[in-house]
Amino acid sequence: MSRFSKEKLKNPSMLGINSKSYQSLFNLACIIEQRKTIVSMSSLSETHKMLHRTCREFSEAELKPIASKTDQEKIFPKKQIKKMGELGLMAICIPQDVGGTGLDCMSYAIATEEISRCCASSGTIMAVHNMYLNVINYFGNEKQKEEFIRPFVDGENIGSFSISEPGSGSDASAVKTKAIKKDSLYYINGTKAWCTNGYESKAAVVFASTDPSKKHKGISAFLVKKNFPGFSVGKKENKSGIRGTSTCNLIFENCPVPEENILGELGKGFNYAMKVLDGGRIGIAAQACGIAQASLELAIDYANKRTAFGTPISKMQTIQNKIADMALKLESARLLTWRAASLKDMNKPHTKEAAMAKLAASEVATFNAHQCIQILGGMGYVSDMPAERYYRDARITEIYEGTSEIQKIVIAANILKEYE
Ligand SMILES: Cc1cc2nc3c(=O)[nH]c(=O)nc-3n(C[C@H](O)[C@H](O)[C@H](O)COP(=O)(O)OP(=O)(O)OC[C@H]3O[C@@H](n4cnc5c(N)ncnc54)[C@H](O)[C@@H]3O)c2cc1C
Repeated sequence: MSRFSKEKLKNPSMLGINSKSYQSLFNLACIIEQRKTIVSMSSLSETHKMLHRTCREFSEAELKPIASKTDQEKIFPKKQIKKMGELGLMAICIPQDVGGTGLDCMSYAIATEEISRCCASSGTIMAVHNMYLNVINYFGNEKQKEEFIRPFVDGENIGSFSISEPGSGSDASAVKTKAIKKDSLYYINGTKAWCTNGYESKAAVVFASTDPSKKHKGISAFLVKKNFPGFSVGKKENKSGIRGTSTCNLIFENCPVPEENILGELGKGFNYAMKVLDGGRIGIAAQACGIAQASLELAIDYANKRTAFGTPISKMQTIQNKIADMALKLESARLLTWRAASLKDMNKPHTKEAAMAKLAASEVATFNAHQCIQILGGMGYVSDMPAERYYRDARITEIYEGTSEIQKIVIAANILKEYE
C-alpha cells in the first residue's frame, strides 16, 4: 500500500507520525485550510487535498521550528530529511515496486510547495534527490534501479544530479568532463560544479562526454558512487540562501566507472538531462510558490498587527495594493505549476508549460519576498524575522535548473514552433 493511501492520510499515525500533537495539528490544518485556501484547493482531488494537509502539518511541526537555525548555521537537516523519507516524500513519484511512493507529479508539486513554505533548504534537498531518482527510474535498467534507487527511497541515503561545470551552466551541452573507455571501464576526468547535495550524497548521476566530436550527442550519463577511487568533493560554496543545502564541485581524477553503470544508452545523456529537467522545473516552480506563500502569510500577519498613525497598516491602501499584487501573482504561478504537473501526469508535452511555471513562480517568489520585507519595514531587514531569509532563498529559484533568461528561450522556441 502506498505511503500516501487515503487510509494513511486520514490517520497520520499510519505514516509513522505517532505523537498526539500531530493529530491535533492535523485537525488544525484542516480548519486552516478550509478557512484560507478553499478557492485554490477546490480543484484538487481528495487524495491531493489530504496529501496537502499532511505535508502542511508535518512541515509546520518539524521544519518551521528549525528553518532559521538551518539557515544561520548552514546545517543539513538530516533528521528532518529522514522523516520526510519515512513519509514517502523522498521518492514521491518512484513506483512502489522499487520502493517508492508511487504518486504523481501533481503530488510532487503540492508536497514540494508545502515543504518549501516552511524550509526552502529542505525543499531543495528533496527536489534534487527526486531528480536523481527520476532520471534513473526513466532510463535505468532493473539492476541499476535495485542498486541506485531502492536504497535511496527512505531519506537515509541521498543522491545528486550533476551536469553543470565551472565553464558551462546555461549551455549544458558544453560539458568538458570526459569519460574515456579502457577495457570494460570508463575513466572520468574533469570537474563538475554547483552540485546540490554533493557533500551528503552517496551516489550521483554524472554527465560526461564519451565522444567530444559529437558535442551534445556525445554526452553520456554515469551512475557514480561516492566511494569510487578518484572521486572527491570540493569545498562547500558559501551561498546567500538555501544554506541548509550543500553545493560543491565534484572532482574526478581518473575515476574508473564500470561500463554497466552507464545510464540508458551511450550518447543519450543530454536528452535524458533535458527530459528530467522539465519535471525538475515543475519542482522548482512549486518550491518558489512555497516561498511566495510564506512571504504573503508573514506580510499579512504583520500588517494586521503593526499599527502606524493610529491604525493597523493593513488598513492602508498602499499596503493592500501590495498584498493584492502578491496574492494575484502567486495564485497565477501556482495554477501554471499545477497545469504543467497535470500535463506531465497525462503524459502530454509540458516543456513550455514547465518553463512558464518556473519563470512565473520564481519571479513571484522574489517579488513577494521583496514586498514582504517592505511591509515589515525595519523588521523585514533583520534575521529575527524570516522575511530576509525568504528573499535570499527566493533568488536561487530564478537561477538553478535554468535561469529566467533560459526559460524565456524555451518558451519562445515552443511558441514559435506552435505558430509555424
Ligand atoms: C545553489 C546552486 C545549486 C545548483 N545545483 C545544481 C545541481 O544540483 N546540479 C547541476 O548540474 N547544476 C546545479 N546548479 C547550476 C545551475 O543550474 C547554473 O548555475 C545555472 O544553470 C546557470 O548557469 P551559470 O551559473 O553557468 O550561468 P551562465 O550560464 O554563465 O549565465 C550567466 C548569465 O548569462 C545568461 N545567459 C546565458 N546564456 C544565455 C542566452 N543564450 N541568452 C540570454 N542569456 C543567457 C544567464 O541567464 C545568466 O544571467 C546550481 C547552481 C546554484 C547556484
